[in-house]
Amino acid sequence: MNVLVINAGSSSLKYQLIHIESRQVLAKGICERVGGEDSFHKHGIDDNELVIDTPMKDHNDAMALVLEALTSGPNKVIDSLDQIDAIGHRVVQGGRYFDRSVFIDDDVIAKIDELAELAPLHNKAALMGIRACQQTMPGKPMVAVFDTSYFQTLPQKAFMYPVPYEYYEKYALRKYGAHGTSHRYVAARAAQFLDESLDDLKMITCHLGNGCSMTAIDHGIAIDTSMGLTPLDGLMMGTRCGAIDPAIVPFVMEHEGLSADEINDVMNKRSGLLGISGISNDLRTVRTASEEGNERAQLAYEMYSHSVKKYLGQYIAEMGGVDVIVLTAGVGENCDKMRRMIFSGLQTMGIILDLEKNREGSGEREISTDDSLVQILIIPTNEELMIALDTLDVVEQLRLEGAL
Ligand code: ADP
Repeated sequence: MNVLVINAGSSSLKYQLIHIESRQVLAKGICERVGGEDSFHKHGIDDNELVIDTPMKDHNDAMALVLEALTSGPNKVIDSLDQIDAIGHRVVQGGRYFDRSVFIDDDVIAKIDELAELAPLHNKAALMGIRACQQTMPGKPMVAVFDTSYFQTLPQKAFMYPVPYEYYEKYALRKYGAHGTSHRYVAARAAQFLDESLDDLKMITCHLGNGCSMTAIDHGIAIDTSMGLTPLDGLMMGTRCGAIDPAIVPFVMEHEGLSADEINDVMNKRSGLLGISGISNDLRTVRTASEEGNERAQLAYEMYSHSVKKYLGQYIAEMGGVDVIVLTAGVGENCDKMRRMIFSGLQTMGIILDLEKNREGSGEREISTDDSLVQILIIPTNEELMIALDTLDVVEQLRLEGAL
């Protein structure tokens, strides 16, 4: 069975065609600057990647190009669209409606649209992807996989904000979290890696990339997560500030003469590693600069690890302990120096990083010492595979029920 995974952004369309039984990625690519000038389409795997400058006025055009590239030309991987069995769409905001992945029908589309108020750019983009697929592949089963659904298990004391209750009632303002597909995937893989049941473990998963988030998973149930109403909350990130004193917002608006949109832009695009280092949002660049003696780059590095440490402490307290800490995404998987800084000084809590294992190896692995009470694992994330597997589950279930 082949599942096409679609991740539509406001001006991009990312995709992977995954053969489920072998877990193999048959093809992947991205259409960039859709609807703008200089749009281009990258298609293929590793050395076989082709980049074609080509006009795309909207997501329908982009989708048509993707399907053409999958079924014809030098990087063709299937003979016809019949070989795509189902489509899985990444959708950012599922609000209170969706606590799992669902088959896409008119009602689901209407709800994704309604929830666009909470994630305007993202949900509208996902809808463009969904509509483009409806247009180019009418009747093909489609499933929506939400970034937020994994966190619908959070208790109310964790998802509410201590602001007037009426905002929750009027606007549904609460913590929804994000990166849920990644946290769910690495948590399940970590339990498999350890040959234990997720239901028996207290786990903290750390998705540290350009965007960063952490989740506390108590015996298989997500009980807290660092991102909030939007993906701006929580940890310090590449360009996002994460949690700050909310009084900073009106202060800066007043003193810098900024509008709401402008301050939003500052906090989302000009803060984090970039804002502090003044050099880059890319940790590799910040690392090099700090090793060359740049003090602000060093500070950015230290603040990033400090931010992760704070959430570790919080979640250990919330769960009354931790058995497994999982690291994933660009920084979590690749940066041994950041991992060393995050875990330094935690030996008295039974969390002991093995410095040699931390420097070496690749793929899924354990990097804690044999006598560490808490196991530290690196599990590369694979959100696309998770979306494909969910798509398969939903479609097969409906087929079993005779609804498809
Ligand atoms: P995104 O959130 O955009 O998906 P990624 O998970 O790809 O981000 O992570 C990107 C981050 O990972 C960047 O800050 C990059 O510098 C960092 N990164 C990737 N490889 C390394 C490495 N070898 N050492 C340090 N940082 C790395």
